[in-house]
Amino acid sequence: MKLYGVVGDPIEHSLSPELFDYLFKATELPCRYDAFRISPDGLAGFVDQTRAIGIRGLNVTIPHKESIPSLLDDVADEAEQLGAVNTVVNRDGHLVGHNTDLAGFLSPLREHAVDLADQSVVVLGAGGAARAVAHGLRSLDVAHITLVNRTAARADALAEELSEAVDVSVRGLDDPRLSDAIAEARLLVNATSVGMRPDDDVSPVTDADMLHDRLIVYDLVYRPLTTRLLADAAYRGAATIDGVEMLIGQALRSFELWCPEASAISTSLVDELRGYLRAKLLDEGTAAK
Ligand code: NAP
Repeated sequence: MKLYGVVGDPIEHSLSPELFDYLFKATELPCRYDAFRISPDGLAGFVDQTRAIGIRGLNVTIPHKESIPSLLDDVADEAEQLGAVNTVVNRDGHLVGHNTDLAGFLSPLREHAVDLADQSVVVLGAGGAARAVAHGLRSLDVAHITLVNRTAARADALAEELSEAVDVSVRGLDDPRLSDAIAEARLLVNATSVGMRPDDDVSPVTDADMLHDRLIVYDLVYRPLTTRLLADAAYRGAATIDGVEMLIGQALRSFELWCPEASAISTSLVDELRGYLRAKLLDEGTAAK
């Protein structure tokens, strides 16, 4: 039995164990997936243990994504560029860090053939997820990105990183010019944690009338599954993409890195997995009410 897992702190709310249990069972691979709650002080020891007991692969989540790269033997280009690792591959004791968030973010846009070339995009947030989103958008040749964040310095730093490749503006969450940016945008991405349970009724776009029917609204938050932002967007005729799509996209990329010999995951299995995770999140939402 090959062992995989997710490492973070806290870890109880991670959906990764259920997601990978489902995938490993469906693909009949002899693999097990565990959750490891490891504090920042314990991370270096845990990485040594990963080598020693032969854990084949790890997903990495808060708060370790930015601190784990220096403990690994190698870091792939995309993870190096983002300064964050969310997937570790163990090849005979040689640990390589990858970042699958960028590919995971892009995957539903590719699946729905959304063409963003020369379009304007609004990204809410400037944390780790927003960096993956912004770098992903850069690769799609978008014309303009408006970065919107509570802490201006963080958005400025990300804008500086992107500015050679794409036209970027920075706005605060309550900047009156945000309305024009959203009016001109084809895509709005929420990469903040605003709207996460228990704040189900809060939206990062406080004036929902800024949303419109030419917009695609993509919320990375998946608890709740239908955030206030997505509900407001759908009400105004916008197309919506929920956070489960990125969650599945990044997990499938981790799976490919860990099990390159396995056959490709079929579209019908992805649909089943999506249905399974959605039902689980909806059940949780009902229980929370
Ligand atoms: P992070 O690095 O901690 O960044 C959090 C972001 O949210 C920052 O931009 C922060 O602004 C903003 N924020 C937090 N509380 C806020 C508030 N009360 N008002 C305004 N802005 C606030 O976290 P992250 O890793 O980027 O994750 C962000 C979200 O994406 C989380 O909800 C996470 O669950 C989700 N996510 C989903 C997936 C997926 O697969 N669907 C993958 C990764 C992340 P400041 O800079 O001002 O603090």
